[in-house]
Amino acid sequence: MHHMTLAEIARGLADKKFSSVELTQTLLARIAQLDPQINSFISLTQDLALGQAKAADERRANGESGALLGAPIAHKDLFCTQGIRTSCGSKMLDNFKAPYDATVVAKLAAAGAVTLGKTNMDEFAMGSANESSWYGAVKNPWNLEHVPGGSSGGSAAAVAARLLPAATATDTGGSIRQPAAFTNLTGLKPTYGRVSRWGMIAYASSLDQGGPLARTAEDCAILLQGMAGFDPNDSTSIDEPVPDYSASLSGSLQGLRIGVPKEYFSAGLDPRIAELIHNSIKELEKLGAVIKEISLPNMQHAIPAYYVIAPAEASSNLSRFDGVRFGYRCENPANLEDLYKRSRGEGFGSEVQRRIMVGAYALSAGYYDAYYLKAQKIRRLVKNDFMTAFNEVDIILGPTTPNPAWKLGAKSSDPVAAYLEDVYTITANLAGLPGLSMPAGFVDGLPVGVQLLAPYFQEGRLLNVAHQYQLNTDWHTRTPTGF
Ligand code: GLN
Repeated sequence: MHHMTLAEIARGLADKKFSSVELTQTLLARIAQLDPQINSFISLTQDLALGQAKAADERRANGESGALLGAPIAHKDLFCTQGIRTSCGSKMLDNFKAPYDATVVAKLAAAGAVTLGKTNMDEFAMGSANESSWYGAVKNPWNLEHVPGGSSGGSAAAVAARLLPAATATDTGGSIRQPAAFTNLTGLKPTYGRVSRWGMIAYASSLDQGGPLARTAEDCAILLQGMAGFDPNDSTSIDEPVPDYSASLSGSLQGLRIGVPKEYFSAGLDPRIAELIHNSIKELEKLGAVIKEISLPNMQHAIPAYYVIAPAEASSNLSRFDGVRFGYRCENPANLEDLYKRSRGEGFGSEVQRRIMVGAYALSAGYYDAYYLKAQKIRRLVKNDFMTAFNEVDIILGPTTPNPAWKLGAKSSDPVAAYLEDVYTITANLAGLPGLSMPAGFVDGLPVGVQLLAPYFQEGRLLNVAHQYQLNTDWHTRTPTGF
């Protein structure tokens, strides 16, 4: 049962081949058996899951239907879940039970999805390896000595290990697409504003966006359908109608103009990944796509700009964790200043502290113009590059990451080395564009992802291209040994 996709589960439930309760029990048992190897969950919610599964079975018995009705999922542990620990991967929030559900959580619950638990993540979503979690590193099911990517490493590892068919995730600089690439999944970062951020604990508010992680584009369409939509509680949510994403999966690729930026194939890219990307281009050409070389001239400035803007926003967002209102509080504070200092010093891990300091510095009087303002100007240039490119092409294609998943610990002592791995993903966040990563082959037994980017609100186009590719390739069907 654990090999089924969301689409297959929906058919099985509709045909009464099994019940949601049976499926939920099977997956909970599988998680108990296998998760100790990969550490993909922070909390399991068995009682909630079995209650939701029973309710979904009753709704189906009463004639209701729906692709998510009775479908098991999990939430990255930064989506607030009422009465359930929402830790953000941090000691700071280890004792935090959210008083309300995030909009994404509430919408998926209303659609009948069954929440199996909360997945592990880099602390406050800062990272690319899922090694900064206070709950320990997550292992990549494809090779337990390697990282699964981050910051949504728990969601990715759980889905890759067939512990469940799909999970929610968030992407501030690549945290849906990069772990998807590292674990042979399909992951979609929607257009900024497409999915509500209400109840999604903020890292960098102008970049954060929730989205689906699953094995196929078809499943991403199903999960995104349940997540997307206008939310008056999020002032950056956009009031655009949500199309039927599953219905967008049938378009021909004949004449589709694919732009391939020449800057993508620079010295930093593993040549074995470059070859797999070229193979995926050939595959799409066979399906009728037309390839065009394009240029994104400001791409080289994106990492420095992102690593000013994201920490700046984080330093502001994380100032609320002060040991007073909620979260961790140090023992026996001597006075108020000691309370602040020690609560934050003991509650936050080193990567979070580093980013708070970088961000506070970049925003401080005297440095604001030199760093923050300059980074915002670069952000506009990066966006303009995309707008120019999308005058000529329908999607942009390239690698998701310059290298496959690295070994656990390989980059933990050198944060900048890890930051450089985000080179292909962060530009979409700076511009607010939708992006998708899908499986494109293997290097040394480790999965490689190809990234597709599209104009604003063209999630359906991305999902369709990925779906057509997946109908003609089988990389996405490969399963890690032992799972
Ligand atoms: N690796 C990037 C960072 O550490 C992106 C993280 C994310 O998308 N949440 O900031």
